Amino acid sequence: MSHTQILKSTGRFGARYGKSIREALLDIEKNYRNKRNKCPYCNYYSVKRVAYGIWSCKHCGKVFTGKAYSI
Ligand SMILES: [Zn+2]
Repeated sequence: MSHTQILKSTGRFGARYGKSIREALLDIEKNYRNKRNKCPYCNYYSVKRVAYGIWSCKHCGKVFTGKAYSI
């Protein structure tokens, strides 16, 4: 029995908790860090903040400033 095998099978939260809690936590982390903002140009929810007050859409590539968007 190797240690790597144990780590692989149990993971960060343990096998007991299964997939669902890990996915739920991932969702929370994602939403916390990356509030989904709608792009005013293409209406996709792929706008990310690149700097303070500066936003960039990953879908259409537009970069814009937005006071409406503030995290
Ligand atoms: Zn866009």
